[in-house]
Amino acid sequence: MTRPVTVVTGGSRGIGAATCVRLASDGHDLALSYVRDDAAAERTATAVRGAGGRCVTVQADTSDESDVDRLFDTAARELGAVTGLVNNAGVTSPHGRLADADTADLRRVVEVNVLGVLLCSRRAARMMTRRKSGVIVNVSSAAATLGSPGEYVHYAASKAAVDALTVGLAKELGPDGIRVNAVSPGIVETEIHAAMGDPGRPSRLAPTVPLGRPGRAEEIAAAISWLMSPESSYTTGAVLRVSGGR
Ligand code: NAP
Repeated sequence: MTRPVTVVTGGSRGIGAATCVRLASDGHDLALSYVRDDAAAERTATAVRGAGGRCVTVQADTSDESDVDRLFDTAARELGAVTGLVNNAGVTSPHGRLADADTADLRRVVEVNVLGVLLCSRRAARMMTRRKSGVIVNVSSAAATLGSPGEYVHYAASKAAVDALTVGLAKELGPDGIRVNAVSPGIVETEIHAAMGDPGRPSRLAPTVPLGRPGRAEEIAAAISWLMSPESSYTTGAVLRVSGGR
């Protein structure tokens, strides 16, 4: 049996890093992308190798078409034909109302969270359609249905686009044997909250979560792992909420 070869965007930290390690222990070889933090990418690659997977790290911005091509080309050259994609890379911007948001922040959120997912999915679809098999999992957010008023409605809107893409692409690629699903995390303990200027957000909002606490990256990775596995062979077009009930 050949090992699955999976590209995880934004695999250096947070949910992406936990996903890489989980998939390695499931038997995948990994190509992970990142933008800024070389040390974090190397740490995750070491953990992947420790879990039994091969791993290449590629500094590649998902919102840049040539970077996306280099990511997939490197994965195929170093590891073999790409069989899976986890569209995990995503960004937020400083907290606040839309009326106060900067155009540059709106543009960046849309470019990474929507265009980036489209570019990576298009490249994967081209490769997977030729092979008549493949699996794509998109990392959306519960924000897509909550709307996130006063925090980041533009981020919520970008994740609603990811949900729509999941449904449409699953229908488009199903006849080619390619499954497309999404995981929608709620509030998860990662560095994304500090990046938007609110490191205390997970603990502050914990009382609003029916299960009474934020999630851990490994709990999101477990859902992604299932959707990437043959155990979910009849599941496509699903948006699986993993939010502690929020
Ligand atoms: P995180 O801790 O901030 O990590 C983000 C990862 O993405 C890092 O590895 C970062 O690498 C990489 N990255 C950022 N922009 C990128 C780009 N343009 N191209 C490639 N890589 C890029 O975030 P996280 O909390 O794990 O979030 C992961 C996903 O889950 C995102 O899509 C996010 O929207 C979603 N999500 C998170 C939560 C939550 O509460 N944490 C809730 C719902 C949904 P560098 O640091 O090297 O740039």
